[in-house]
Amino acid sequence: MIYSVALPSTVHKSAINHLLREGGQEDLCFALWYSSSGKTRTTALVQRLILPLDEERRVHGNASFTAAYFERALGEAIRAKAGLAFMHSHPARGWQGMSHDDIVAEQGHAAAVKAATGLPFVGLTAGTDEAWSARFWEKIAPRTYECRWCDSVRVIGDKLAFTLHPDLARLPVFRPELERTISAWGVEIQSYLANMTVGVVGAGSVGNIVAEALARMGVGHIRLLDFDRVELLNLDRLLFATKEDALRKRPKVDVLADALRHSATAGQFSVEPLEWSIVEEEGFRAALDCDVLFSCVDRPLPRFVLNFIAYAHLIPVIDGGIRIRVNPKTTKLRHADWRAHTVMPSRPCLECLEQYDPGLVSVERDGYLDDPSYIAGLPETHSLKHNENVFGFSLSVASFEVLQFLSLIVAPSGLSNPGAQMYHFVTSTLDKDELEECKPTCLFPSYIAMGDAAPIKVTGRHAVAENARAEQRVTTASQGWFVSLWKWVCSLVQKMK
Ligand SMILES: [Zn+2]
Ligand SMILES: [Zn+2]
Repeated sequence: MIYSVALPSTVHKSAINHLLREGGQEDLCFALWYSSSGKTRTTALVQRLILPLDEERRVHGNASFTAAYFERALGEAIRAKAGLAFMHSHPARGWQGMSHDDIVAEQGHAAAVKAATGLPFVGLTAGTDEAWSARFWEKIAPRTYECRWCDSVRVIGDKLAFTLHPDLARLPVFRPELERTISAWGVEIQSYLANMTVGVVGAGSVGNIVAEALARMGVGHIRLLDFDRVELLNLDRLLFATKEDALRKRPKVDVLADALRHSATAGQFSVEPLEWSIVEEEGFRAALDCDVLFSCVDRPLPRFVLNFIAYAHLIPVIDGGIRIRVNPKTTKLRHADWRAHTVMPSRPCLECLEQYDPGLVSVERDGYLDDPSYIAGLPETHSLKHNENVFGFSLSVASFEVLQFLSLIVAPSGLSNPGAQMYHFVTSTLDKDELEECKPTCLFPSYIAMGDAAPIKVTGRHAVAENARAEQRVTTASQGWFVSLWKWVCSLVQKMK
């Protein structure tokens, strides 16, 4: 299991204000956290601070807390059904190790925290450069707790800030293929990219181009999610798909993964093609292992789930979409507009940006959007009735999405937020959405950092995905049967010779 910690930037700022004191004085506080359980990664999402009252801690070079403060914080954690974290600062820069006193303080309270909350005690240390280091205290035997260091600590809000464990931050071996890329933004950014896991949800036209760009720029780990197969009518816009892939009805994620293995430039590259929908539990958990997600899906339900992940699980989601309007009489292009935006705490969500209709989320869950008679009953202007698309337009949307990603990671001159962008093909103009935060009635800000404890369940069964996988098993089995038959005929012919 991989461990990680994530903080919303608002919590990070309050913690840093409290912990980094004048004159290098160390300080401390407790905080509450909720878990985000991915397929291979457990993340502690720090949701709020429990700051000390004056008499609850002693500050004398090293800082220490009173039993009363620990008990008050533990009480708050029990009431909130949260885990307890302990934060303190060191007068040095970068990822911090632990002093003997640190180990005694954290290990000595691990049993009480585990007994009261059911969750491991989490320790965080802030350096003077606002870099965090973190660990989980796991029970390995009765009354025995051991430190499990996190791979990374992420701060999510204005930008995406990483601190990597020193073993990971040691600069990976970069191949000469990346020389020009590294010379553009330096080895530190390249080391983030090499250690990152990026999820591409939807392996359609935009998803293919985005994934190719990520692999070329040196992203180390890519996860692809899509249950769909290649068909002939996809060939006008699927970057890597061939006629043979369409005739064999190959899964889109397999075709894309094969191509990425050839184009990847990272020294150690891995790609995982997963035939799940983000709406299914397995797909959802696989997405929670990612540091950034690309939403390359157009249906309301998967977009709703991705929107939820961005706030509840603190994973930035980069989304985009194309809308094309054709004059029905002349069949000539009237409008083509596309958008790209990054959703996460401190920025407006997909629902507030009107990128899906919340009313259609439950309609889709009930299977109506896959029912041709339901779609036929919708007004002619409804977006679900339109699936026009052109490779050149997908190329531009993918490019805007990749630029959103780079602003988030590289933050050139400290600028990490290009805003929600809208491009109008007919007039060749680029606009920005004026909305800067979620609307007051929006529920998503209330889910920030709640992770697995958020009060809604977003996953369930997905009949179309289940059928697609079942059909694939039959196709693969029958292909296997034909191959064996063919081999048997060939061997028979050999013998007769
Ligand atoms: Zn310390
Ligand atoms: Zn919102």
